[in-house]
Amino acid sequence: MNTCVLPGKAMCNGMRRGQKIVLHTLLWALAAGTMQPVMSKPKKELSAKKATVAPMTARATATKRLDSKKVTAATSVVHMPLLGEKYARVVVKDRKLSGAVFYLAPGHGGPDPGAIGQYGAHKLAEDEYAYDVTIRLARVLVEHGAQVYMTVQDKNDGIRDEKILKLDHDEVAYPNLAIPLNQTARLKQGTDAVNRLHKKHKGAYQRLLAIHVDSRSEREMIDVFFYHHQDSVAGKRLATTLQQRFGNCYRRCQPNRSYLGSVSERSSLYVVKNSHPPTVFIELGNIQNTKDQRRFLIADNRQALANWIYEGIQADYMRQ
Ligand SMILES: [Zn+2]
Repeated sequence: MNTCVLPGKAMCNGMRRGQKIVLHTLLWALAAGTMQPVMSKPKKELSAKKATVAPMTARATATKRLDSKKVTAATSVVHMPLLGEKYARVVVKDRKLSGAVFYLAPGHGGPDPGAIGQYGAHKLAEDEYAYDVTIRLARVLVEHGAQVYMTVQDKNDGIRDEKILKLDHDEVAYPNLAIPLNQTARLKQGTDAVNRLHKKHKGAYQRLLAIHVDSRSEREMIDVFFYHHQDSVAGKRLATTLQQRFGNCYRRCQPNRSYLGSVSERSSLYVVKNSHPPTVFIELGNIQNTKDQRRFLIADNRQALANWIYEGIQADYMRQ
């Protein structure tokens, strides 16, 4: 029996390699906790198998140093230590999300691990699995030219490919703040940071995605579902687009399985109620549910979830 609840990586969002690269060193403003690439001097041209057109990031394009005749295909590379050693080097493939700003809020963190599932002798913490999907999503968004803020950050975890993601408590809140145990204080801390940044990025397409793995349901298998605020047209549109995209991906990748994920209003949730950018709260499943656990234990499935969320985001961004 195929234990993959979701398909392997990149089925719905293929990744290309071997592009002709003009390498620019982009300094990642990690000290400030942002995921905003900062351009530095172009370094050198690297040879590669095949030239592929991939425009620079907005900032990279702004530079006068490039010879546009010679370099029809140029790709930026950014370095993001928060993604961990293996994934820190990110090739910006295109600018599909250029100008968009995303706040990614993985559920819980710090002293609060969220829901805990039991898997044999192992404990599976919601915050670790939500974090891994979320930071994978951060990487994909940056690959397409977006600006991303992680509201919760774990400086020594990065993207992890193991099945069992070790529970720790050293996550901090953006930009580098200890996370309080008190739930309201914790949610307020994240929301306040997002609202300050929202003001700073006034006029841009901005969206907040809160990602959790602790849905409650009577059903055995719980599908990914989405909440938005009753008054947020943009939040509802993004939630609906995401849900449709998940439906398409399931139909394509698992035609024998019906997707039952829903979109609904849930205005009372703290983050949905108090965040200024249009917000979608995503429940990826329940880490305590044995069948759901398969969706999260396999790294490729966590990547597929991130890729599908990206696809929905991109469709929404195009539609604005
Ligand atoms: Zn949660």
